[in-house]
Formats: sequence, C-alpha cells, structure tokens
Amino acid sequence: MRKLAAGNWKMNGTRASLSEVKAINAELDDTDPAVVICPPVSLLIPACDIGGKIGIGAQDCHMASSGAHTGDISANQIADTGATYVIIGHSERRTDHGETSDMIKAKAQAAHKAGLIAIVCIGETLAEREAGETLNVLGQQMSGSIPDVATSQNTVIAYEPIWAIGTGLVPTLDQIDEAHRFMRAELLTTLGADAQNISLLYGGSVKGSNADDIFSVADVDGALVGGASLSAHDFVPIIKALSRA
Ligand code: PEP
Repeated sequence: MRKLAAGNWKMNGTRASLSEVKAINAELDDTDPAVVICPPVSLLIPACDIGGKIGIGAQDCHMASSGAHTGDISANQIADTGATYVIIGHSERRTDHGETSDMIKAKAQAAHKAGLIAIVCIGETLAEREAGETLNVLGQQMSGSIPDVATSQNTVIAYEPIWAIGTGLVPTLDQIDEAHRFMRAELLTTLGADAQNISLLYGGSVKGSNADDIFSVADVDGALVGGASLSAHDFVPIIKALSRA
C-alpha cells in the first residue's frame, strides 16, 4: 500500500505560489511518502518543471481525448504537461458542474488511457449522513464512478465527506474508520486482491494538528488536502505525520 499526501489547490495560486512547491520539495527526504500537488491548470507546466520529489496533478479532465469542448482540458493534454495525476469527481465538480457518477467514470477511464493516476473522490452530504445513508451513498458512488479495470497502479480513492470540506469539521475517527473499512471491502469484492494496495485517502479539514490521529486509522493511507496544502508551513506537517504513521 502506498502512502500518499495529495494537495488540491482548487482555484488558488499564481506563478508566485510556485515558491511553496519549491519550499515543500526542500523539506522532503527519502523517508517521506509520495506527495502530489494539484495546482490550477495554469501552473501545471511550471510546477512540473520544478522537479524534485513532488508529483504534479490536475484537478479535472474531460472524458474525450480532444474536440470542441471550449475551456476544458483532456487527460492527454494533462499528461503532455508532465503531470501524472488527476483528481476526478471532486464534490465541487459534482456540485458546481453537475458531474454525475457516469461522467466521473468516463473521466477516470480517459485518465487511465492517458497514463494518469486518477484520484477518484466520493463522499456524503451532511443530510445523507444524518439520514444514516452514508455507506449506501459511498457504495453507489464507488460502483458508479470507479472503472472496472481500476488497479492500485492507476487509481486512488479519496473519501471526502462534503460537510467536512473547508469547514473545519472532521468526522470522528470511528466514522472515518467505518467509511474506509467499507471502501476497502467493496474494492476487494469488485477488483480482487489488488484492491488491498489501492491508496485510500481521507479528505476534509485535515491539518497538522489532526493528521496524526487521522493517519492512525486502519485503511487510511493518506490525505487529500485543500486549504492546508497551499503553503509549505501548513502542508509539510501533514506530510511528516504521514511519514510517522
Ligand atoms: C478538498 O477540497 O479536497 C479538501 C479536503 O479541502 P479542505 O482540506 O480545505 O477541507
């Protein structure tokens, strides 16, 4: 199983922010887990040019390889920048752009075809959790969004409760444990033994102060981090916590 700390910069950052990528790189050594930063598309090429230990990813891709899709970017084009990851199906894409699980599966397939590692996001709303529907929702999103040919080499799954994203709210460790155990069991059923090696990330208000606790949960292999990935000051402690886990 591969530990991974992934940062999602969302629609934040200009070229000046590349100094943070350099600063994070400078803090990493051979004992650290894999680290990927997903900056806005405008920064993919210069971020890749920095080199070092950090992998670079995009935040979305189109399901088609090319064509009349103004404003979109294909998985091939992302791969052409030197990036190796792409986040697929983040809840902000599902909400802001009406992305369905079918679309997300098609995007993940496009990512795989282009040789990218897809970080597929799933997660429940607060209303779904309060209605006791969390595991049903996760099961539906997994079967709907994850391609049948997903492997530990081309797919990472991020469990991101929507109510925990950017809110400072974090599920209890038992709630994270329940979700991650469920995800692992579902993947083992659908994908077989290789599912044991698929990295399962937790995402939602991860910080240096709660990272050790979150990474102590079985089947949490890392984190997808939004706000706290924007600076070396906040992201490096999370990476170091994952090293210790
Ligand atoms: C995210 O958007 O993927 C996320 C986890 O954000 P934050 O860490 O800011 O809650």
